[in-house]
Amino acid sequence: MAVEAGLQWRAGKRVAVIGAGPGGVSAALALHKQGFDVRIFEKQPAPKPLGGAVLLSVPVLAVLRDYGVDLDNFGSFTVTEFRNNKNRLRSRLPFNQSVGKSFGIEGWHYGMLRANAFARMMELLPAGMLVANADFERYTQTTDGLSITFKDGKRIDADILVGADGIRSGVSRQAFGQPELFHVGLRVWLAWCDPIEGIPPQTGRIIHSHKYQASFFPMLHDGKPGYEWWIVEPCKENAPAPQDVGDYLGKILRHFPDPLPRLLQATNPRTQIFKWDIYNRPSLQRWSSGRVVCLGDAVHPVSPYAAYGMGMAIEDGYFLARALSGANLGDEQQISAAFHDFEEQRVAYVNHHVEFARKLGNVFHQLPYPLAKLRDWVFDHTGLLDRMIRRDYLADAEKMSLAMQELHQVGRHS
Ligand SMILES: Cc1cc2nc3c(=O)[nH]c(=O)nc-3n(C[C@H](O)[C@H](O)[C@H](O)COP(=O)(O)OP(=O)(O)OC[C@H]3O[C@@H](n4cnc5c(N)ncnc54)[C@H](O)[C@@H]3O)c2cc1C
Repeated sequence: MAVEAGLQWRAGKRVAVIGAGPGGVSAALALHKQGFDVRIFEKQPAPKPLGGAVLLSVPVLAVLRDYGVDLDNFGSFTVTEFRNNKNRLRSRLPFNQSVGKSFGIEGWHYGMLRANAFARMMELLPAGMLVANADFERYTQTTDGLSITFKDGKRIDADILVGADGIRSGVSRQAFGQPELFHVGLRVWLAWCDPIEGIPPQTGRIIHSHKYQASFFPMLHDGKPGYEWWIVEPCKENAPAPQDVGDYLGKILRHFPDPLPRLLQATNPRTQIFKWDIYNRPSLQRWSSGRVVCLGDAVHPVSPYAAYGMGMAIEDGYFLARALSGANLGDEQQISAAFHDFEEQRVAYVNHHVEFARKLGNVFHQLPYPLAKLRDWVFDHTGLLDRMIRRDYLADAEKMSLAMQELHQVGRHS
């Protein structure tokens, strides 16, 4: 680990971020913009975004634009539909048009290769802000700051510590105890491929059979069009991975409508399919302790469905910096007030989304046969799914988006 000497590191402004994932980099960009002296400590030799594609929502894009990310050719506009595996429409994501108008960004979802989105964030980091090969070990809080120790024995003093070190966060463990991670009984296969013919434009579909989900969205990879697709399956913890992933997924997709089987054929199973076993933790009610605050997967690992982890981690970083704006980090009371403000804005909101995502996962994948049949009838013939998505996913997200007025473009003139 080598710390750049040229960057400022002034007492009362020193922010140490542990982890250069989307949450840590978002927090660093936002805090740097607020005038803090920021360093990101990452245990890997270079930050590595996870493979595959990601869907980001409009408020996340607005945050990234605020950091300076160029949104041109950034993601593929998508309208999301829920269908059954006979292709019957159950719900078209009823997003609020005024959100898009406020931000000046149409719609709600955009698909892109995760590595591309992350690369555009990384480009904005000032030279020297990222310290690689820095494996966090522990921190010690003193009356006027923190001392952070790394596994190679190096130490650094800082005013606050942001734990953005992912699902197995050492910062979060020291601050809040063992995470008690539990497997949610689901496994996700994430894949992406080049475009194929015959798919309606700008349409993403989340499709359920009685047991599986198979979905696809348009996305951009390196600025070129393509598709991301994935399968969610019920699965026990530590279930062995199939020998032949293509064959295994092909058997599941036989029960799904076009284009899903064709998307598999257009995908290289060795380089374009990624397995994700889903773990959660019991929701925390606090994300801060003294001069330490955590965000992203370090405090709320997510499930698929409504809780998209990359977007939520990016939002966390933005909200943390907004709460800390103007604070003197030499003053514990100001830190505590800012962390409290951050928690007020985020904890209940995020916990609700993570818990709703888990609930949807259970409803779609864990019900025994007669109940699953009843569920399918209700979702096919009533507007219940539409109402659940509106009430438990979109309502809060829209409220949050409309409150982010500093990012709105309506009424602004250059
Ligand atoms: C295979 C897979 C697919 C996924 N697909 C999606 C998806 O399609 N959409 C979506 O929204 N979310 C998805 N997620 C979840 C999403 O990746 C996470 O929610 C998101 O990356 C969380 O960001 P983060 O910054 O909090 O943590 P992370 O991205 O986990 O970043 C943590 C960083 O901290 C570093 N670190 C860890 N320990 C230390 C240490 N001791 N010292 C220093 N650095 C440390 C790590 O190396 C890493 O760089 C997926 C996750 C996986 C595993």
